[in-house]
Amino acid sequence: MADLDLVQDFLRGLPKFQLTGDGTWATCECWVCGGYEDSSQGSMSIKFQPEDGEVIGYNCFRASCGVHGMLRPEDLERMGCMDPNTLIQLANHNAATSGKPSNKFIMRKQRDFTMVNLNNETNQLKLAYINKRLGTKFTTSELRDYKIQLSLYDFIRINNIHQLAYSERYCDVLNKWCIGFVSAYQDYLILRDISKKEFTGKRYTQYRIMGKSEKGDTKIYTIPRNIDLLDPHPADINLAEGAFSLLGAYLHAGDVGFHHPNSVWAANCGSQYRNTLMHLTRQYGLLDVCLHVWSDSEIKIEKYEQLIREVKDHMNLVSVQIHYNERAEDFGHAKKDIGIYTIQLK
Ligand SMILES: [Zn+2]
Repeated sequence: MADLDLVQDFLRGLPKFQLTGDGTWATCECWVCGGYEDSSQGSMSIKFQPEDGEVIGYNCFRASCGVHGMLRPEDLERMGCMDPNTLIQLANHNAATSGKPSNKFIMRKQRDFTMVNLNNETNQLKLAYINKRLGTKFTTSELRDYKIQLSLYDFIRINNIHQLAYSERYCDVLNKWCIGFVSAYQDYLILRDISKKEFTGKRYTQYRIMGKSEKGDTKIYTIPRNIDLLDPHPADINLAEGAFSLLGAYLHAGDVGFHHPNSVWAANCGSQYRNTLMHLTRQYGLLDVCLHVWSDSEIKIEKYEQLIREVKDHMNLVSVQIHYNERAEDFGHAKKDIGIYTIQLK
C-alpha cells in the first residue's frame, strides 16, 4: 500500500481534527456543510489508517448533510490543500486501491507561469502609478517579488497562451488600463483598473489565465511568504480589501508589517473577508490565528464583529485587531500618509 503520510499530515491540520479510539478513524469538521456550530466535535468521520487496498471513506453525521464517499483529491482541494505532492499521493492511493487509473484527476495548479515586466512606455507609466501611490521606488524587475504583472499581453505572450479569456477588444482595454496581481493559485490574473474613469467598467477583473473558470475558484491575491507551521506562536493572518491597501500595510506598518515573521498577507479583491479567511486557515492548516484586518475607512467595526461571529467555530481566534488609516480611506498609500489606528476586538 502506498504511504499516506502527506495526506495524513494535511488531515491532521483540519479544524476540530481528533483521532478516535485506536487511531484508525478520526473526526474533523465537515468540509461540505461546515459541521455543528456549537460543538468542539467535528461532524465528519473519516478513515485515518485504511487497511491495505482500502480507500479512505468518510461520512458526515449531521443529518441535514450526510455527505459520504471515498476521499478524492478534489475533496482535499476543497478543504484548501494546494500541495501537488499531497494531491498526487491521494490520487495514487486511490488508483492503487480501486484499480482504476488516476489520470482523470487534473490538478488545479498545473504550471508555474513566468512573469515579465518589460521596460516600455506603458509599463513605465503603470510603474510610476504604483510608486507614487505607495511611496516606493520599485523597478520593473522588483515587481516580480510581489507577483505584480504590469501587462496582460506580455504575460500571455511569454507563457505561450493562445486563447484570450475575453473578447480581444475588452482585453485591449484591460491591457492598457490594468495592473495584474497573480492570484494565490496562479490561475488568475487579478486585474486592477487604475484609470481615473474606470474604463474597464469595474475595479477588479478576474482574468482566468488558462482553462475554464469554476465556481469554487479562489481569486484572492497573496504576497508570497513562508509559513512555519512548527512555530509555536500562532500565525498572523493579515487581510485587506484591495491589493494596494494590502501592500501599503505590508510595506509601511513597521513591526506588524513585513518584519513580522510567520504571517500571511492576502487581499480579497472582490471576495468576502469570511471566505478569504476560511480559505487561508484551511490552506495552511492553521488552528490558532491572530487576525489583522487592514480596513477601508468606510467599513464599520460592526462588520468585523459579525465576521468574528461567523468564523469563530471554524478556528481559534487568539486575537483580532482591526486597523484603520487615520490619514486616508485605506492603506494603499505612502508611509507619510499612513497613521495606524487600531481597535482590538479580541
Ligand atoms: Zn456535513
